[in-house]
Amino acid sequence: MFYINAGAKSPGIHYTILNCILEKEHGKMKIKGLETYVATQRLETPFYFSQFGFSARQTCLVKVIAEDGSYGWGEGYGPASVIRAGIEFLAPLVIGEDPLHVEAIWSKMHLRSLDYARRGVLVAALSAIDIALWDLRGKLLGQPVSILLGGQRREKVKVYATGMYFVETEDLVGKLVEEAREYASQGFQALKMKIGLGVETDLRHAQALRQALGDDVELMVDANHAYSLAEAISFARQAAGLNISFFEEPVSPEDYEGYRELRQRSAIPIAGGECEYLLAGFRQLLSNRCVDIAQPDICAAGGLTETKRIATLASAFQTNLIPHSWGTGIAFAAGLHLVSTLDPVPGRLRMPEAMLEMDRSENPLRDKLTTPQFEVVDGRVAVPTAPGLGVDVDPDYLDEFCKDE
Ligand code: CA
Repeated sequence: MFYINAGAKSPGIHYTILNCILEKEHGKMKIKGLETYVATQRLETPFYFSQFGFSARQTCLVKVIAEDGSYGWGEGYGPASVIRAGIEFLAPLVIGEDPLHVEAIWSKMHLRSLDYARRGVLVAALSAIDIALWDLRGKLLGQPVSILLGGQRREKVKVYATGMYFVETEDLVGKLVEEAREYASQGFQALKMKIGLGVETDLRHAQALRQALGDDVELMVDANHAYSLAEAISFARQAAGLNISFFEEPVSPEDYEGYRELRQRSAIPIAGGECEYLLAGFRQLLSNRCVDIAQPDICAAGGLTETKRIATLASAFQTNLIPHSWGTGIAFAAGLHLVSTLDPVPGRLRMPEAMLEMDRSENPLRDKLTTPQFEVVDGRVAVPTAPGLGVDVDPDYLDEFCKDE
């Protein structure tokens, strides 16, 4: 450490020397173990979307621990107990490896699981471990993940509020409008509402929100693949005047042809990809020209390692990436670091602004499990500057939320 400040003339040299010294210092360090945690908390107000309902929130976290006691946190997106089993399957491949060699470890996990996991929760398990490795590597190198990913294009990331789920109530429209107004009053400049109950009902809800919000707030809709192609075309046609920024998961994630046809016939940009996995999956989505906006979930699609590659592939298809994010502060921090490095397309002096999903639906895990909490100012969140992801897990809340496991 002493040598760094003595000789470094530029941040680049500084970083190279730092890297060399730490590679040397940590060259023999090994990963000692992995711990998995399934955190669960019941909800005060159960809610549902077009596919099913939630009465509790649950997530699987992984802590990757090095020989010197330093550690990184990761999170998987999907059924938590299944992801935990996947992490236990992959753990022997990771233990004993050097935590600085993140992409090499990724390849090892990928090759061992490819025969069973071209998609699905085993990829989410791999993703959780990969995120933890980036966090750990950042801490060992004394750098935030955004720097390790290639460097920040922005210090703050625009976020959109995801909410407006359905609840059992006499006045669902009133509830949706009130919730949307609340997010707007908190400074969010973009909101995403749920649709997928039926075209006429959905149109009524979208019209009510647009009317309540005025034209200064961006509005997006998410059908969670509840529509047939004909219904999606009908919704897109009838909602064309509502100034909707994107229409998410209109049809089945398996229906690439449906996506492609809808995109040709919809004036509203089409978004999708939260059910897609790995670079090869996104190649299919992108090469079929299915979406205007690709939405990989970092905690499912292959971790930070693979999502960075997906972002590069998307840019080659002139497609922007707005990651899906529906977890705790670990998932959200991973998203902030990645999005801070992205170059939106098309490139121009006044570029389109990169954006990240910020789930605002009831989730005590997200609100309590990690520190520090993220503050929304003018619809944007600052990218953490501490080494690694820049978030840590509160041990007391971890105990509380994992006590039934
Ligand atoms: Ca979604």
